[in-house]
Amino acid sequence: MSVNGAAPLPAMATNPKFIFFTDFDGTVTLSDSNDYITDNLGFGHSKRRQLNFDVLEDKMPFRDSFKQMMDSITTSFPECMETLRKNIKLDPHFKDFLDWSISANVPIVVLSGGMEPVIRALFEELVGKDAERIQIVSNDVAARPGKSIDQVGGWEIQFLHPESGFGHDKSVEIRKYSTLPERPVLFYAGDGVSDLSAARETDLLFAKKGHDLVNYCVREDVPFTIFQDWSAILEGCKEIAEGRITVKEAAQRGFEQYKKDKAGA
Ligand SMILES: [Mg+2]
Repeated sequence: MSVNGAAPLPAMATNPKFIFFTDFDGTVTLSDSNDYITDNLGFGHSKRRQLNFDVLEDKMPFRDSFKQMMDSITTSFPECMETLRKNIKLDPHFKDFLDWSISANVPIVVLSGGMEPVIRALFEELVGKDAERIQIVSNDVAARPGKSIDQVGGWEIQFLHPESGFGHDKSVEIRKYSTLPERPVLFYAGDGVSDLSAARETDLLFAKKGHDLVNYCVREDVPFTIFQDWSAILEGCKEIAEGRITVKEAAQRGFEQYKKDKAGA
């Protein structure tokens, strides 16, 4: 059972000064778990890339492309999980960040367009018992009518916000916190376009170097700082939490870094 829904604002339970929201696939993990099962157990890489482009070109909502990808996988859910456990790796510095977040009272909330049982199982596999401390807000997996998820062709994705073109609109959860009259500082880490709407609601965005989100932030004038791995996120958060730098300064520095990288490229 996840902590989702246990309280309307679970991340406020310890009265934190900071909350860290993050994307999961490609941000906490080194590769995307949904891409992995689509490419290896579903209709494969080229069909998936075509759907990615269709979404980028606004020919199809993300939700519908993702549903098609998951529907192309008939492998039973436990077998999918087995494949993912063997092949998906966490960022090597995420565990250090998690340890720090626990000691510094900075709750971590994962906002994912993927599937909650997958994320929960990968966390348990990769960080052990402390996985319980991470709140996950994501889509779910459901049995198809008359079947069980343990059977071939037995499961399907169940979207958290089926009315949204994203399937899961990440800004919904963040807004519960960003609209509080007195609220903690909100951080967000992500790599993709779907993270942009979420990022707008937070005070500082960590955008993964070399990915689409960085360019979108520049274009849309969203303050950000760049990270390559979670050691940079840990350093940035420590500096802010210890009062050595303000959130504004951190964002300014991110933009300077971006311009320097561009100039050097
Ligand atoms: Mg991602």
